[in-house]
Amino acid sequence: MSIDTDVLIIGAGPSGLGMAVQLVRNFGTRNFEIIEKTSDVGGTWFANSYPGCGCDVPSHFYSYSFAPNPYWSRKFALQPEIHRYFESVVSQYDIRPHVRFHSAVVLAEYDPETASWKVVIEDQRTKHQIHKRCRILVSAIGVLSTPKRCDIPGAENFKGRLFHSAQWDHGFDYKDKEVICVGEGSPQTQLFKWAIDAYLLLLGNGCSATQFVPVMSAGENQVKKITQFSRQAHWLSYRPNPEYSGAFQFLMCWVPGAQRLYRTYLFLTQEKDFAGFHMKNGQNMRNDWTATTTEYIQKNSPTKYRDFLVPNTIIGCKRRVMDTDYLACLHRKNVELIYDDPIDHITESGIMTKSGRKIDADAIVLANGFETQKPFSPIEIRGQNGQNIADHVSQYQQVEGKFRLISFQWLEFAGGSPEAYFGTCLSGFPNFFILMGPNTLSGHLSVLYTTECQVNFIIRVIRPILDGLNRSMLPSLFVTEYPESVVVTPVAERKDVAVTDHKAKQLVWATGCTSWFIDPSTGRNTIMFPDWQFKFHLRSIFIPWTDFLYKKSPKGSLREVTVVPRYPLGVATASIMLLGALLRLSSAESFKLSSTLTILQQQVSGFLPWTR
Ligand SMILES: Cc1cc2nc3c(=O)[nH]c(=O)nc-3n(C[C@H](O)[C@H](O)[C@H](O)COP(=O)(O)OP(=O)(O)OC[C@H]3O[C@@H](n4cnc5c(N)ncnc54)[C@H](O)[C@@H]3O)c2cc1C
Repeated sequence: MSIDTDVLIIGAGPSGLGMAVQLVRNFGTRNFEIIEKTSDVGGTWFANSYPGCGCDVPSHFYSYSFAPNPYWSRKFALQPEIHRYFESVVSQYDIRPHVRFHSAVVLAEYDPETASWKVVIEDQRTKHQIHKRCRILVSAIGVLSTPKRCDIPGAENFKGRLFHSAQWDHGFDYKDKEVICVGEGSPQTQLFKWAIDAYLLLLGNGCSATQFVPVMSAGENQVKKITQFSRQAHWLSYRPNPEYSGAFQFLMCWVPGAQRLYRTYLFLTQEKDFAGFHMKNGQNMRNDWTATTTEYIQKNSPTKYRDFLVPNTIIGCKRRVMDTDYLACLHRKNVELIYDDPIDHITESGIMTKSGRKIDADAIVLANGFETQKPFSPIEIRGQNGQNIADHVSQYQQVEGKFRLISFQWLEFAGGSPEAYFGTCLSGFPNFFILMGPNTLSGHLSVLYTTECQVNFIIRVIRPILDGLNRSMLPSLFVTEYPESVVVTPVAERKDVAVTDHKAKQLVWATGCTSWFIDPSTGRNTIMFPDWQFKFHLRSIFIPWTDFLYKKSPKGSLREVTVVPRYPLGVATASIMLLGALLRLSSAESFKLSSTLTILQQQVSGFLPWTR
């Protein structure tokens, strides 16, 4: 049995790219492959090209710690600039030759006989399938990459354009396309044109909608009319977005440590917000937020919408939305917000509301979010007993009139809701890791920070296996046997889920607002990490090794191998020797102290994403 690639990564978004770069940085090896279903890198930042699309985390923190960018043009960069950033990282580390574009992973099966994954990849253009075998499989398919479908009756009858904000239809107005290539040719500049004279219907008022309604409703190319339907208001906070001056960029680029310091400042100012999510202890902080935000909404919104726009949910229960001039644009004549007369059905020319109002439109834009509670669907990922992760949610299958249990992992551990140890590992799935998995996101910080922590965690866990695949010519001091597989124990996974659930119940996310964090079938928070983000980082460094089972599988029969992670031991030994020589310490006590300090220093400062 031969392995095609040591590590196969599904998805070339920020998480998958981060994983690839860290493989290069840590192992120097390039025996990895990324499978990407679209035609470019960047994930979210390639797919989402609606007008005004941008980041709600300051860009100096929404970037990799290993690839800081002193030239961010503004505090919260817009999509074209963010996409260019990921492209530059890909070029810097020469990742593109390792990406197989237009290809989707449709099936992955673990083969316990060979401790490897058999992966079926489908070309998105020809539907031709190929098979690959890898030792380690990493899912980096994101949580927000499958747009929700339109479930309003009659959608199939609509004669105009109907599309999701994450699949923006740039070809809507062919006549105006002649001016699209002017300027940078970015998706954003294209959009200003097609919107002219169009009547638009918009379903949803989440983050995306609040970004594109202001852009499309103003300026010389403004849309004729946008009618927006909304069910639940968001807490919209004031967010200025200043441009960085040349002097600031110079400072970031040339003054040693300035960028790290700014990054740390951004981390600390955002991290403190977590205190406000705690039901008991965060009450005062939430009272302040509520007062300030209510005042802001009331001051800036039209009187007719005020009652609706000040939410009746507890602040922090949903991710807070930054106001990108959305409230101001509600004053415009070409924008109408409908919140008290929901859509009954879609007609050939527009929609009919419950009260019988008919509204015609050229296009209907869905800003109704993503499938967040069906991770991995439609991919089939089968673990060591043949169980499929995607089936875990649906638990039972009807066979010849009888219901048969077809899987057990998520049913057994979390009542059928998505879960994973550290949001990354599942006990029935050896050599398999999930980036941006269940319970990893924060309500206040950058996903890139989270995903970097996970990547560094995975690198530490798989190091003994990759070392075995890429052995050094020098005899190893510490390891005589290399493992071929690693899996988290069921006990550790169960404990982790219990701790996560216990903590999540004490937070404001559990107060009952409609939010994509909660699995409606179980009421479980499956999305958010219910603790401080610095703790997420520490967990990725100080790994309880007894939670993992490393195994060697010669000729099909599995036997356990005790693995002493070589890296920390090597670092510890080298540190002891180096410090001993430098400080000329002779007493055993001092020796112990200095080595401990050095190990800590290596372990902590070497991997601090907010300072490196
Ligand atoms: C509009 C929008 C704005 C956002 N703004 C912020 C923000 O301000 N701050 C923040 O922290 N987060 C934000 N996010 C969250 C954002 O998704 C993450 O920050 C980040 O993009 C996650 O990266 P990822 O690589 O894990 O997933 P993604 O970016 O979603 O990338 C996943 C990749 O996997 C590919 N893929 C999926 N399935 C398959 C398959 N079967 N086979 C092959 N390839 C596959 C996809 O095509 C995609 O390229 C935003 C999300 C959206 C949609």
